[in-house]
Amino acid sequence: MNRSLNAYRGCEHGCVYCDGNSEYYHVDNFYSRIQVKENAAQVLRKELKKIGFTSRSELETETLWKFLDDEDAKRIAEKVPRKIVIGVCGGVSDGFQQAEQVHKVTYRILESLLDYGLPVFILTKSTLVLEYLDLLKEINERAFANVVFTITCADDSVQSVFEPKAASTSERFDALKEIRKAGLFGGVMATPIIPTIGDNVENMTSLVKKTKATGGEFIQFGGMTLKPGRQKEYFMRVIKRRYQENYDLIERIYENNNTYGQPIWKRLPVNVMVMGHHLCKQHGVRDRSVRHKIPYEYESNNRVLAVLLDIVFRMNMFFGMSRSATKPYWELAARIERGVDELAKLRSEGELEERLMINDTMGETVNEILDSGTCRVLENLETRIDTMANMEIDSDIRTSPDEFV
Ligand code: SF4
Repeated sequence: MNRSLNAYRGCEHGCVYCDGNSEYYHVDNFYSRIQVKENAAQVLRKELKKIGFTSRSELETETLWKFLDDEDAKRIAEKVPRKIVIGVCGGVSDGFQQAEQVHKVTYRILESLLDYGLPVFILTKSTLVLEYLDLLKEINERAFANVVFTITCADDSVQSVFEPKAASTSERFDALKEIRKAGLFGGVMATPIIPTIGDNVENMTSLVKKTKATGGEFIQFGGMTLKPGRQKEYFMRVIKRRYQENYDLIERIYENNNTYGQPIWKRLPVNVMVMGHHLCKQHGVRDRSVRHKIPYEYESNNRVLAVLLDIVFRMNMFFGMSRSATKPYWELAARIERGVDELAKLRSEGELEERLMINDTMGETVNEILDSGTCRVLENLETRIDTMANMEIDSDIRTSPDEFV
C-alpha cells in the first residue's frame, strides 16, 4: 500500500482496544460521533489529477482519445505516472462500518479508484464489503483488489467482548472465502492479539487453520499497544469486568504508560510474531502479507521488491533492528518502487549494479533473488526465527507468564 485514506472519523464497531479512541487522534466520542467525509471522492479525484493521473472517464471525453488506436491510448494513459496502491480504510476507522450503509462514501471512493485504474487495499471487520463485490471485481480486472480482514479472536464469544459491533469472527472468515472465490486477493491481519487472552496456542492455531481453510493468502500476527489515557482506561475497565483474572498481569505489562502504548516486552507471556511464524510454518500458511504486482510493473522487479520488503519486515519486527541497520534494503526497495527499468533485462545487459547504485554484496543478493525468488539473507533470518520459536516452545513461558513479571 502506497497511500491510504479514511472515509470516516470515528468508528461504530466499538473495539475495546481501538487505538483510535486515544486522545492522540483528537476524536472525541470516537465510538458514537461519526464524522462523515461526504466529499472524500471528489477530493481524491482532485488529488490524483494533481499528481498526474488521468481517469478513464476524462480520457474518453477528450478529443485526442478519438484519434488514437484504443489499445495505444489506454496504454499511454495507464502508464503515466506509475500506479500506486490506495488503502481504503483500516486506519483509525473502518470504511465499511454501519455509517457506510447510509452515506456510501467508501463506495464512491472505490468507484473513483476504478475510474483511475488504481489497485486497492481494504482492511475491514465488516461483511458489508461483500455488497460491493461487483465493483471490486471490476477493480480487480483493471488493477487488483486486495481485501484483508482483521481477525484476532477465533472464538466468537471472546471476539464479541472486544469487538462488540463488528461482524463475528465466523462471518469474517465466511466473507474471506467469498472474496477468494471471486478471484480477489485476500488474507487475515491478526492484530492486535491481546496478551494473556489471545496469545495462546489454541486461539492462534485456530486462526491459522481457518485462514488456510478459507483460502486466505496469509495471516500476519501482531501485538497490542495501549496508549495511556482514554484508550487504556476503557480497555482496562472492560478487562476488570469480563476478565478479572487477567487484570493484574495486563496492568503490569502496560504499567510503563509508554506514549505510544508499547508494552514492557519482557513481561509479555508470548512473542506473538515468533509464535505466529512457527504455527504458520507448521500449517503451511504465509505469515506476512503478500506484495502483489502493480499494473505495468515488471515481474522481476516485483520479485526483488517482495523479498527486500520481507527482509526489512523480519529485521524490524522480529529482531527490532534499527532503521539504519535495515537501510540498504529499504533504500533499494524505495528506489525500485519509484520505478526503474526491468531488472532481469538490466542484469542481462550487465548494468544491474550500476543502475541500481548498489555494491557487490547487494548485487549478489539481487542476483540470488532473480534466480531463485529468495536469498541467503532472508533464509538466514528465517533460520534465526525458527531457533527463537523452538526456544519459546521448549520453555514454559506460555504457561507461567508470572515468572516474567
Ligand atoms: S474496526 Fe478498527 S477503527 Fe473501528 S473500532 Fe475497531 S479497531 Fe477501531
